[in-house]
Amino acid sequence: MPPPPSAPADSHNRDIAVPLVRVDGVSKAFRTGGATRQVLRGSSFELHPATTVSLVGVSGSGKSTLISLLAGLERADSGRILFAGADLTELDDSARADLRAHRIGIVLQNANLIPFLTSRENVELAITLADGPQRARRARALLSEVGISHRADHLPRRLSGGEAQRVAVAVALANEPSLLLADEVTGELDSAGAEELLEAIFAVSRERGVAVLFVTHSDGLAARADRCLRLVGGEVHPR
Ligand code: ADP
Ligand code: MG
Repeated sequence: MPPPPSAPADSHNRDIAVPLVRVDGVSKAFRTGGATRQVLRGSSFELHPATTVSLVGVSGSGKSTLISLLAGLERADSGRILFAGADLTELDDSARADLRAHRIGIVLQNANLIPFLTSRENVELAITLADGPQRARRARALLSEVGISHRADHLPRRLSGGEAQRVAVAVALANEPSLLLADEVTGELDSAGAEELLEAIFAVSRERGVAVLFVTHSDGLAARADRCLRLVGGEVHPR
């Protein structure tokens, strides 16, 4: 029998075979008032460098909860989330914040740009690893990478939904993360805008080797990913 594809049998394929993120039996419940809602019950999956993964599931199934756990914004009740070998569930708040700032980019349904800063200024503000002319150069390069250079000096209110989301992707890439999380980022876009945004995200994954997990309501968009996952009954299944 051949070895499983994740086994580092041939050592020069090692880097692509080793997952960036390993979610292992993760559970999460929320207690509100007297009631407990078990949202995740033992979900497991992996995310690999330069690989796009889609996540679908009905409203309320726990997709955003899973994104929050991966981003280190919430803590799992049980199970492990290994990020490049470090267990997110064991890190303290400041170590998780550090990881989030430097290794994880997040894009949400509303672009969440700072309204009184231009596209370029929004990206520059997010770049913490460089300053001065180098920061300006990097911001320009990021806006160009997501195809939005022509809107660099616009304020967010003058951007279309799709343009604002592309700026939000550039913001998320400011510190060169190895994981990009996108939660219903195409939710407010028409189908052409959604396609374009997803294409930009896929290109980022290919060219930078970024692992991408994106949540969508569209089965068509989900099917464009390298791998598709469905969240049902608190568990993640291949679809
Ligand atoms: P989805 O993104 O798939 O629509 P969510 O992850 O947002 O689902 O929510 C899953 C369930 O968890 C919902 O029932 C929601 O009300 C509940 N929930 C999410 N976050 C919280 C929270 N911080 N406190 C209490 N309940 C929450
Ligand atoms: Mg959600």
